[in-house]
Amino acid sequence: MTHLSMYVNMEGFYEIRMESIGGLGANLAGKMLAEAGVLYQGYNGSNFSSYGSEKKGTPVTTCIRFSDSELEIRSSSPIEKPQLIVVFHESLLRTEKCMAGLTKDGTLIVNTEKKPDEIRKMIGLQSGTIVCVNALKIAVEEKSRVNTAMLGAICHAVPFLDEQAVIQVITDTFSKKYAALVFANIQTFHRGMNECHVQIFESNHEEIQATFSRSSSILGYATQPLGGAIINPGNSTLRDLSASRSGYIPEFLSDACIHCAACDLTCPDMCFVWTTIQDHHGRSFQHLLGIDYQYCKGCLRCIHACPTEALRTIRETDGFADEHRVMRSVNS
Ligand code: SF4
Ligand code: SF4
Repeated sequence: MTHLSMYVNMEGFYEIRMESIGGLGANLAGKMLAEAGVLYQGYNGSNFSSYGSEKKGTPVTTCIRFSDSELEIRSSSPIEKPQLIVVFHESLLRTEKCMAGLTKDGTLIVNTEKKPDEIRKMIGLQSGTIVCVNALKIAVEEKSRVNTAMLGAICHAVPFLDEQAVIQVITDTFSKKYAALVFANIQTFHRGMNECHVQIFESNHEEIQATFSRSSSILGYATQPLGGAIINPGNSTLRDLSASRSGYIPEFLSDACIHCAACDLTCPDMCFVWTTIQDHHGRSFQHLLGIDYQYCKGCLRCIHACPTEALRTIRETDGFADEHRVMRSVNS
């Protein structure tokens, strides 16, 4: 194992940014990783997460800094130029800020079924290392969560992290409250470490990845309109919730559907698309056409509500949602 000092930036830090969505355990993964470095490897370390409402599916960013034991970490600012970006959900790669600031020889780890060269083409990365791990598949098979598989891939990619230190922290963390999950999570960690695909891409270009920009509010104390007037009421027609799905999606089997609307009453995002047709007596009734996957966050509540198994859970594969999306007509 090599020492941290070989990998630090100008300030003496090794910086990791995890991009995730609520429910995938990135916050806990960041905490475990920092603890492994501090408690069992003698580094200085810090970690913190930012998220909105603590709701499954909302964006989560976790930052971890490591430094040598002689250098104190006094910064708690968001990480703008990480040496490592860890993406817990492939759909997040579509968001502008996900890759922001990655250094030109940095490493990107993605939870995906794809191979590194496919990811490279998808995001237009010029140089650096891409590590792909199918963390969701591993987590499903081991009955655990993706975060420990991602920790395995991180241990594989970061030479100064000690596998045994991370295993010890996983054991400490889970044995306190969920002792029965220790073995599954250690298995998940090992599989994440051993089943990842790594590829290094070289380039002559100097600057490559998107720059980091700190988001700020458009309206503040100096710019907001007087009287609380809402000048742009907005709507959610362009909203794409695909990044909120955690790898599963409902499939609609129209032959089994009795058009009872139980799914529609349950769905929090009004994903079900209906049309009016006439039965053989000439009476109009509502007929379910399918699901508009643009708005589906994959909560799977509709599946529990359906009395006829016309909806079932499937693993989301590349392109499924676009291919099977039923779009609402303007009049519906
Ligand atoms: S999984 Fe079902 S209930 Fe949940 S958002 Fe998608 S369509 Fe709606
Ligand atoms: S709950 Fe099931 S049967 Fe009822 S409308 Fe929805 S998909 Fe069809």
